[in-house]
Amino acid sequence: MRMNELDVIKKLVDGSNSTVFFGGAGVSTASGIPDFRGNNGLYKIESEYGAPPEEILSGRYLHKDPERFYKYYRENMLYPSAEPNGAHKALARLERLGKLTAVITQNIDGLHQAAGSDKVIELHGSVLRNYCLECRREYSLEDIIESSGVPHCTLCGSIVRPDVTLYGEALDLNAFYEAEEACINADVLIVGGTSLTVNPAASLVGTYKGDHLIIINKSPTPYDRYAEYVIREPIEEALQYIAGVI
Ligand code: ZN
Repeated sequence: MRMNELDVIKKLVDGSNSTVFFGGAGVSTASGIPDFRGNNGLYKIESEYGAPPEEILSGRYLHKDPERFYKYYRENMLYPSAEPNGAHKALARLERLGKLTAVITQNIDGLHQAAGSDKVIELHGSVLRNYCLECRREYSLEDIIESSGVPHCTLCGSIVRPDVTLYGEALDLNAFYEAEEACINADVLIVGGTSLTVNPAASLVGTYKGDHLIIINKSPTPYDRYAEYVIREPIEEALQYIAGVI
């Protein structure tokens, strides 16, 4: 039965030239990057770091206690040896085949680009980009990893921060508008690996006015009832099937 649904979706995407994929943490879990919003040890994090992740990973906290921010960030947010998984690769393949026009992601790990996707809209930025708070000089992920504690600018000595949207900070509006436009112009919208509970990113789905909303997620989302198909299979398997890889 499931295969029948995936076969129909595969045909839809085959016949499409503007499928858009919108994904979240679930896309990268098979690459070994845990969903820090998942229930794996939030309490443990709070007792270990003295505050919940939402507080430590905020712009306010970065300024108040950069040492603790970076301790948490280095230990929980950086996965330099993570590799793209089947989901990332399947999406890159669909782009190469001219089916997929954009990947919109809430992830900050750069794995879509590593898999070969060209058109990637990063709603929450990327750990691969970092910049000096004072002079805006840019730093790579390697620069951050090679430093220890709080990274400082080699030019002016100020704190270097990741180019990611922290809690309490405004979303990158340019990225959001670009994502909105991609959704509006999509003939098929596949949403995967996200529980669609974090706004305003989740509200993007509401901008899609087409008939083919497909949701691939292990657990129910608030948008399931608007979807043409809801798939509960692992996302890497579902996307590889849709892309004709398996
Ligand atoms: Zn600087």
